[in-house]
Amino acid sequence: MLLDIDNAYIQYGPSVMAVQGASLQVAEGELVSLIGQNGAGKSTLLKAVMGVVPLHSGAITFDGSPTDARSFSTVRQRISYVPEDRGIFTKLTVGENLRLGGVTRRDKKALAADIERELERFPVLRKYWGKTAGLLSGGEQQQLAIARALLLRPRLLLLDEPTLGLAPIIVDLIFDVVVRLREEGMTILLVEQNAVRALEVSDRTYVVQAPGRVLGCGSAAELGKLPAVVDYLGFSPSDVRGNSHVR
Ligand code: ATP
Repeated sequence: MLLDIDNAYIQYGPSVMAVQGASLQVAEGELVSLIGQNGAGKSTLLKAVMGVVPLHSGAITFDGSPTDARSFSTVRQRISYVPEDRGIFTKLTVGENLRLGGVTRRDKKALAADIERELERFPVLRKYWGKTAGLLSGGEQQQLAIARALLLRPRLLLLDEPTLGLAPIIVDLIFDVVVRLREEGMTILLVEQNAVRALEVSDRTYVVQAPGRVLGCGSAAELGKLPAVVDYLGFSPSDVRGNSHVR
């Protein structure tokens, strides 16, 4: 298992237990989504994978190694995390942001080729190469954030609500990119408010209920058989159009 979260408890300060006993796994090459209502603990789980928030108890391992604060720097080189606020450098240009995405890489020739590949994937970034990133639209900034994350050549890509607040056409574009990345072999853990779209594209989906408890996991068809999940979501995942790209 590439990512294994085992019975994780995560606390903010002395009183807020945001995640209580979540377990989830992501295998190499899988596209896995986390869906659930606001405050369910989805973002907290991604932050814990990155070592940004500490585990109270339980374990998170990446390729067999713990992702705690001590191993943070090694893990960071293999996991790319696009946070909800995108985390781009707003004062720098698009080009500078992209070059920084690969700043830890020594293989500068391969990096240049990778930047070129991302400019093919996201043509708007080529168009705005010299533009200050803070002046891009939300959708353009999201494309920059994903492109930059990919320049690390991660083994696992964590995306936190990449379509939040974006126009429908950009939402489609981002989902297309996510599906294509999966087809290219990228392993992806996606936090998504749009449950239907997430169910459509994912190999497996975890339904998370506050405080960070997994109500169910599986394909849309499998989740549709779980009454607690249907009740929580307010619709049956079985009614969601199946994903066509799944092996
Ligand atoms: P959303 O879909 O709204 O982003 P989420 O499922 O990602 O929600 P989290 O952001 O993980 O949920 O939050 C889980 C719980 O932890 C919530 O009750 C939230 O208020 C709380 N929480 C999150 N961050 C902090 C923090 N820095 N300090 C204190 N409590 C926090």
